[in-house]
Amino acid sequence: MIISGLGKAGLRSMANKGACTLMSLCLLACPVAAQTYPSRSITMIVPYAAGGPTDTVARVVADAMGRDLGQRVIVENAAGAGGTIGSLRAAKAEPNGYTLILNHIGMATAPILYPGSVDPLTSFEYIGLVADVPMTIVARRSFQPNTLKELIDYTAKQGNKITYANAGAGTASHICGVLFASETGAQPVTVPYKGTGPAMIDLLGEQVDFMCDQTTNTTNQIKSREIKAYAVTTAQRIPALVDIPSVKEAGLGNLELSIWHGIYAPKGTAAEVAARLTSALQSALKDEVVLERFNQLSALPVSNDQASAAALKAKLTSEITRWKKVLAAEIAK
Ligand code: ASP
Repeated sequence: MIISGLGKAGLRSMANKGACTLMSLCLLACPVAAQTYPSRSITMIVPYAAGGPTDTVARVVADAMGRDLGQRVIVENAAGAGGTIGSLRAAKAEPNGYTLILNHIGMATAPILYPGSVDPLTSFEYIGLVADVPMTIVARRSFQPNTLKELIDYTAKQGNKITYANAGAGTASHICGVLFASETGAQPVTVPYKGTGPAMIDLLGEQVDFMCDQTTNTTNQIKSREIKAYAVTTAQRIPALVDIPSVKEAGLGNLELSIWHGIYAPKGTAAEVAARLTSALQSALKDEVVLERFNQLSALPVSNDQASAAALKAKLTSEITRWKKVLAAEIAK
């Protein structure tokens, strides 16, 4: 072998050169060295309007992650096009660990309805799953139907004389509406918003008739009877809203829907940085403040092993396959 002819000095010089090359490679390829990261505040994009349910989850988690990271994690709302505007912004951001996105099920569903916008399977590094949140079917205070059964009959009779608010194509509220329509034959006029935060304001003002939204945006308004609630999209009732029947009890078992959330970083974010963010997420999901707030709003934090890159990637991949089938009719429209 050529190497055997080098002698000790030659081998030593080769080893030194190798070490130098490794060091300079690491200086280039591991620029945001895990030792110094994070050295400034981090932006967490929420692809829906402020004051809505995803925004609420993000702000609670961002605060706790910031406590763990020793830097502020600042939520920035980049809403529109069913969340794809924010997802695109996150995908195109510098992959330096200082821009993240927290999105829900819409990361899997919206790109199906906006083909060519963002490919969630190739645009991101995965930080981890966050929480599962049930939805509620709700209406403005004086909307005529009082039970889910009455709502089904009423919407069937009224056709397009009634309105359904959602956060745009591919969002959780849109999917819930699609499932409701396919189960009941309802054909309300859809009123799209940049998020269900502003949709809730119009529901409270009785400008739209009904919608389906996460408990993280409806619990307080249901409890204070400012809006009507017909059902929660779970198999069983939930402790925070014990008076509200489950969709199964109320006769729409096929409308069971749980909204999962995940945190992503732009593709190319260094593995050490992504791992640091995963560990901050895992700490956040054990934080007392987070657990209490989640409990009040019926958000179920994921287990430690689910708050991981592998679990989020697996969830996203299987959900894209699942919803492509369900949304096939919507794609054809
Ligand atoms: N709840 C909304 C949705 O329908 C999004 C949001 O405003 O958080 O997906």
